[in-house]
Amino acid sequence: MIKLTKRQDEILNIVKQNGPITGQEIAEKLSLTRAALRPDLAILTMSGKLDARPRVGYFFNDNYEVKRQADKFLHQKVTDYKAHPIVVEKSTPVYDAIVQLFLEDVGTLYAVDSEGHLAGVISRKDLLRASLGNKNLQELPVSVIMTRMPNIITINSEETLLEAAKKMIQNHIDSLPVVKEVDQQKNTYLLLGRITKTTITRAYLEIMEK
Ligand code: ADP
Repeated sequence: MIKLTKRQDEILNIVKQNGPITGQEIAEKLSLTRAALRPDLAILTMSGKLDARPRVGYFFNDNYEVKRQADKFLHQKVTDYKAHPIVVEKSTPVYDAIVQLFLEDVGTLYAVDSEGHLAGVISRKDLLRASLGNKNLQELPVSVIMTRMPNIITINSEETLLEAAKKMIQNHIDSLPVVKEVDQQKNTYLLLGRITKTTITRAYLEIMEK
């Protein structure tokens, strides 16, 4: 992205508010000659910010603005948006995990082993399924019902929100644990955070509203 000069910013604002507007009219508003404006207008049209039509004048290119925001959205890093992971020990009873889900107001819990490495994912449906016809939820550990390693879909801090969104949609899941690899062969990962469908929606709103 090229940084605009103060005058180019002024021109953009004039065109945004008054477009379509001729070069002569812009020049008058800025108390400059048409010739003095020519290089700035050339830069603004060549970079796609403004469009020009003969005998009509300059107008603001809305598509450019949308594309710029979309580009910005797509390149955001997971590390800047990740939330705290809500974690339980894998020996935790299903009953306690359900209580935890309500207390923390989340849809997914992550289970860790005694060394603190990611061991499983427990979603709302996993807990509902376990609750159906199972009377002894205080005795049943989440390790029995969770989705386990190596079947967990994870994401790294340096990946983008676009990659996170793709993984969630392609795998029909609501959240991704953000991890740092400890040992790839042993499938051991440290848990750094979580990205959910809500994270993506919030990022989208934040960027579009700016
Ligand atoms: P819900 O159960 O509320 O619909 P999900 O769609 O996220 O939530 O979960 C659907 C299934 O996918 C569950 O069995 C869950 O354990 C599993 N799951 C959720 N997240 C992941 C993940 N990141 N990697 C692998 N499996 C997952």
